[in-house]
Amino acid sequence: MSSLLIKNATVVTLGKANQVIANGALLVEDGAIQALGPAPAVSGGADQVIDARGRVVMPGLICSHHHFYSTMARGMNPPGEPASNFVEILERLWWKVDRALQMEDVRLSALVPLCECIRNGTTTIVDHHASPSCRDGSLDVIAEATAQAGVRACLCYEVSDRNAEGAGVEENARFAARCGKEKRDDLKALFGLHASFTCSDKTVRRCVEAAAPHGIGFHIHVAEDKADVDHCLKQHGKRVVHRLAELGLAGPNSIFVHCVHIDDSEIDRLAETRTMVAHNPESNMNNAVGAAQVLKLIERGVLVGLGTDGMASDMLAQMRCAYLLHRHAAADPRVAFCEAPGMLLGGSAEVARRIFGLPLGELSAGGPADLIVLDYLPPTPLSADNLLGHLIFGMVDAAVDTTICRGRVLMRDKKILTLDEERIAAQCRERTPAMWERVRAL
Ligand SMILES: [Zn+2]
Repeated sequence: MSSLLIKNATVVTLGKANQVIANGALLVEDGAIQALGPAPAVSGGADQVIDARGRVVMPGLICSHHHFYSTMARGMNPPGEPASNFVEILERLWWKVDRALQMEDVRLSALVPLCECIRNGTTTIVDHHASPSCRDGSLDVIAEATAQAGVRACLCYEVSDRNAEGAGVEENARFAARCGKEKRDDLKALFGLHASFTCSDKTVRRCVEAAAPHGIGFHIHVAEDKADVDHCLKQHGKRVVHRLAELGLAGPNSIFVHCVHIDDSEIDRLAETRTMVAHNPESNMNNAVGAAQVLKLIERGVLVGLGTDGMASDMLAQMRCAYLLHRHAAADPRVAFCEAPGMLLGGSAEVARRIFGLPLGELSAGGPADLIVLDYLPPTPLSADNLLGHLIFGMVDAAVDTTICRGRVLMRDKKILTLDEERIAAQCRERTPAMWERVRAL
């Protein structure tokens, strides 16, 4: 593989070293960072040179929860009366959208947000997929799209009983077996389930049994809305985190998404089991389900990463949304300054490290070359001590200029090199009206 030198950069390493290096340089070879530091310390010829012209070079961003399949709902006028609550949003919109997808829609639905991920510097994505009418093999189709894009992806299929009991167990197991066999550093599997209220005990047990031989964790929506809690208390006589933990879903390799409506005993259980939480502030606000108590979760030692829940692929914007939401919710201008960036730069990075087994989310010698050049020339002094202020009030609005994953340049000078963005959008636009017709017919 060819070598790449990035010079004249303001290098923001993040991670344990957490350094800001002015006039820094990085040498990339064979998908890894061979050297980084002040320019004179990094020497050696390279096949390709990128002059960052003083702009910020930082680790590629990580999305802990996405739904590629939601793409074609954009701009659609959902049939019927507007949904007045969370369950109606699922029944009237998402459970029709996913059923209307055909395999080519699944492929294009992935390629569109993958362009947006690259454009926004998101190089690792944990996706949660559903396409009940073309379920088997759907994860392979998405995996082909993520490989074409050149990003790292962790995929799963959402098992639920809503269309057929336990539908999706085999697709998860098959894909997990494939990932286990291939041992790639850019493709991983989790075992997906929709949510407590759409999965019987029998179905959850089947998932636990099917996941066991592959040694992988679970990826499930947890207490996103109060309806999930009410259902769990009524049907199972316990709260959602406790039910799922007792059935075997909690653990250091599992992601419990949202956790908006959980109590103190459930927070303790998440901490004890080291279960990961994915927080999706924009989605929670969009669905009006409430503000997750992430500040409390972090304080109690729960690992919280940031996701988009399919709404977008811009992680810096998601970080600022978390910052604003939790200040607003707490009515306290002293909170969330460290926690909001921390969920993205520390939390999501640790989620990715656990899944991929690599030091993702930091720039270090010997570490993976997943990095971005951000169009940000610091207008005030920038150091490791005041980085968060620059992130929240400046870097968040800066465009990504160059995106590199595994040492491969995916976008350079804002031109995506691995995917034909215009063609993908045109193809998706062309297929969408028929898909919307199928949604209306359901
Ligand atoms: Zn979700």
